[in-house]
Amino acid sequence: MIDLKVIKKLEELISIERKLVITSHSNPDGDAIGSSLALFLLLRQLGHQVKLIIPNMYPGFLSWLPHINEVIVYENQVKEARALIDEADLIFCLDFNSMKRSGVMADDLIKADATKILIDHHPEPVAEEFDILISKVSISSTSQLIFELIITLGLEKYIDADVSSCLYVGIMTDTGSFSHAIYNSETFRSSAYLIDKGANAERIHRLIYDTFSENRLRLLGHAINNRMMVMEEYRTAIITLSRKDLKQFNYQIGDTEGVVNFPLSIASINMAVLLTEKKDHVRLSFRSKGRFSVNDFARRYFEGGGHQNAAGGNSQLSLKETVSRLIKLLPEIHEEINYQYDEQ
Ligand code: MN
Repeated sequence: MIDLKVIKKLEELISIERKLVITSHSNPDGDAIGSSLALFLLLRQLGHQVKLIIPNMYPGFLSWLPHINEVIVYENQVKEARALIDEADLIFCLDFNSMKRSGVMADDLIKADATKILIDHHPEPVAEEFDILISKVSISSTSQLIFELIITLGLEKYIDADVSSCLYVGIMTDTGSFSHAIYNSETFRSSAYLIDKGANAERIHRLIYDTFSENRLRLLGHAINNRMMVMEEYRTAIITLSRKDLKQFNYQIGDTEGVVNFPLSIASINMAVLLTEKKDHVRLSFRSKGRFSVNDFARRYFEGGGHQNAAGGNSQLSLKETVSRLIKLLPEIHEEINYQYDEQ
């Protein structure tokens, strides 16, 4: 349940028409965009002046979402975005737990005078950066949390087909198509409600998952066949993709999405890591099965974090150096990661 005092405060804040900004983390995913867009559409129906500003571009598989063309991409429209953040009465921060996760927008958000409202499901939010905290860790997604919030606020009549589709996208993608982060039956109850309100489950699944280009599928094949190391002793598999690899397959934003999940389908593997070489750093994605916390691991060693079983991080070392650093760390977690997932 969401704290009633918080609900009261929120009700008060949105009871008069205001200038609102909604924002989310950099490299926004299905949950970031789905939850933000749903809240955007809902608050607009209430008569507010709402803008949705994201730090950088969303992946192509989300480009069909209703009203996504109204999203402002900070990186491309810095001046306009800055002015809006400056003038905002309220800023809703969705699907991230610390301002620094909003990348290029972080400084502007921290400086803004607006009342800042966090709505998120990542562990350990940086509370002092926000005025109001709606943080729930044991929930599938921020989209499901937004759904709960809408219901608690008594605003369910505004859940139309567009809002439903956006929220459904967030729940579906953050649970890997209903395969993890399901803490209780509410995930399915919310999803069923959204389907009743117009979210087309089959169509959405197809639009999100069956939109690979030939290059993207071949990149996945290359990653698994030629770039994956399996270290049975540490129950870990590592995939590394260099800029050259990405170029070879004409990489587009979003093309490496989901690649990190494949090594986890090996029965004995408890942690999968994908290292992607960027222009000036290396991006790391971590996934785990069971009790090993990649959130802790990414926080401790790779200036990152996320959830217990899904996290991200960065390294300023070269790709090669980052891989060897990672491999050197594995003996330290040997005890922690050496469990049989089914009998953990
Ligand atoms: Mn999320």
